[in-house]
Amino acid sequence: MFGDTTARAEASIVSEAVELHSGQSEPLLLKVRLRVAAASQNDGKSSPPPTSVLPLTNWKRDGEDWVSEPGSKLAGLQVKVRLRSQADGHSELLVETKATAPTWLRLLSLELESDSVGAEVGGRDLRPKKVTSRAALSGLDPKWVILRPDQKPWTILVDDDVDGVKVQVLPSQVLVQADLLSSESRPFVFFQQCTDHWRAPNRKASLETRLLQEGETLSTKIVAYAGGAMPLLKARYPEGRQAAFVITDHADQTTSGTLHALAGGTSLVSSPRFGKSGFLGKGLPMTKALWFRSGEPAPAASWAHPPRPVLSPFQKHMHSLVVYHSRYERPQVDPSGAGRPQLDDPALAELTVRLHRAGWEISPHSATPQPDDRDSTEEALRFFEQYNAKTWIDHQPYTNCEALTNRGFQGGNEGIADLLDRHKYRYAWSGIDVPASPSLNLLAPQRIDQYVPVVYPSGRLSTGAPSNLWLFSTMMTYIESSRFFALYKKKSLDQLEKERGLHIAHTYLEAFHPAGSKFAKRNLMQAGKVPGEIVPHPRLEQLLSQLQSRVAKGTLWVPTLQQLGDHFRAMGQVTVRLQNDGSATVHAETAVTAATFVVPRPGLSVLIDGQPLQTVRSGKTETMFYTDLAAGQTAKIELRDAKQRPVHLLKPMGAPTLIAKSNRVHVVVR
Ligand SMILES: [Zn+2]
Repeated sequence: MFGDTTARAEASIVSEAVELHSGQSEPLLLKVRLRVAAASQNDGKSSPPPTSVLPLTNWKRDGEDWVSEPGSKLAGLQVKVRLRSQADGHSELLVETKATAPTWLRLLSLELESDSVGAEVGGRDLRPKKVTSRAALSGLDPKWVILRPDQKPWTILVDDDVDGVKVQVLPSQVLVQADLLSSESRPFVFFQQCTDHWRAPNRKASLETRLLQEGETLSTKIVAYAGGAMPLLKARYPEGRQAAFVITDHADQTTSGTLHALAGGTSLVSSPRFGKSGFLGKGLPMTKALWFRSGEPAPAASWAHPPRPVLSPFQKHMHSLVVYHSRYERPQVDPSGAGRPQLDDPALAELTVRLHRAGWEISPHSATPQPDDRDSTEEALRFFEQYNAKTWIDHQPYTNCEALTNRGFQGGNEGIADLLDRHKYRYAWSGIDVPASPSLNLLAPQRIDQYVPVVYPSGRLSTGAPSNLWLFSTMMTYIESSRFFALYKKKSLDQLEKERGLHIAHTYLEAFHPAGSKFAKRNLMQAGKVPGEIVPHPRLEQLLSQLQSRVAKGTLWVPTLQQLGDHFRAMGQVTVRLQNDGSATVHAETAVTAATFVVPRPGLSVLIDGQPLQTVRSGKTETMFYTDLAAGQTAKIELRDAKQRPVHLLKPMGAPTLIAKSNRVHVVVR
């Protein structure tokens, strides 16, 4: 239907800037520069390296390509930018960087300055957005930028191998900055001291640079298409699901009784009711962090010894605590959290095997509640191999010196980063919590002007540390239970889905404190009908039912952290390209199940490699579809409108001649 009329793309150098041409479109003039903040040393105390701006003005031919390198040498870094024009009409800017010596990078970025008025991007909710001043797109945020959207448009597409893309709209220019590495999009904060008590003063510091070892490379490809393309956006979640809700539950409140209640709806494992409700009953998984050993029980308090015949009110209170602790097998803990057996309790360990089989991720919450040496951490990591654990969650990083967010990220005797790497851990909690808020979406779509990293690669944090660990941040929800349930009201969950949001909760779902105690208002567990029985709060069961029905409807995804991260990694390596014939190709580097895509036009049907796709859903403003992609697979995507006419992604108006005419207006491009 659409003839292949576009000529080969061409590029020329016009007064030190790059000019892209394609067919009859108006050319796009780009000034190209690098922004680099690098240092050869990092003693942890000196201030982060400042940013140098290096214009790329000296372009030389290299075969068919144009190549430029920064005029001034960068210590420890080789950077080359290559401009390649493709026969099918698009141009590519390739950035190739190699470290020639160990280099600490805060920023490495390619900036393109265009004479554009206005810009459009895809928002975090995958809906088109006009950029008013700034947009910052990281992680799986779409990285499609339409320059000069109102006339003579060009579309710039950046793959997700960059840390992010920033777009800045000025009165008569638009800057597009592709950050190959930016520590702003991979926050890492750590405690500077290791204290004896969690209340002792401590300070957090931010690690501003990441280490590139000698020989390591950073590269990306920026693709430019003439025209205002209709973007084919990658969605974050599989199967067309709108939002994700992830629970990471820390070990601190866990005992055998409450974990049974949370999992099976009652602490009485032999009851016929066990497994009918709770997480197992609803078929929901979570990431459950536990202690491999919970340490010695806290020393018995003196009041626990023979009561006197007449008790004071205080003693009566203490006596009821003793009854509580023995009735619910919930021993008192010391300030570290130690004193309650977890995986050292055979009943609890048996339950975790069942939970793992049911899809839960069973993870270490540090090895034990107390500071651990490398041998204990190693022993715990070996123990957790039976659950295929890949997510590490620090416990009390202010007192646990070996915590990743204390000294653990460093090398040496107190480091654990190398141990996590040896056991192939892929995810670790960043220790960064946002406060509880009914706006559940951690991606904060209203803050489109800044990076909002939630699940992201840490980069190499120290010499000897791995470079492939990803960090995740959470919302802290250890709050009064009335507030907890208010957070997760229907309206908030609807909003999360509408925003295509991501919620990762940092929870203590087994909170079950004695009545009248300081934290009893945070209880999410309560006494059951049978003496000694513990059951989840009815409103917790209601919340699980809510989640279950949204999962069944296909609107919400409730994965473990590991499943979420693995899907993000795989989708991050999917690349989309537009073809001259109006189709697109999607290429997967590693296998992805139910990879989802969104096109901002409703009512389309989709062909994949010529075959009609059955997983297409249409909304008011968009069409969404999903497909499995094998490792190394490239699939051709074609779109059809309601009358089965091809929809051209590069000329989406359906009237290519009109665009061509309007573009023929003579405008002198500098
Ligand atoms: Zn903890």
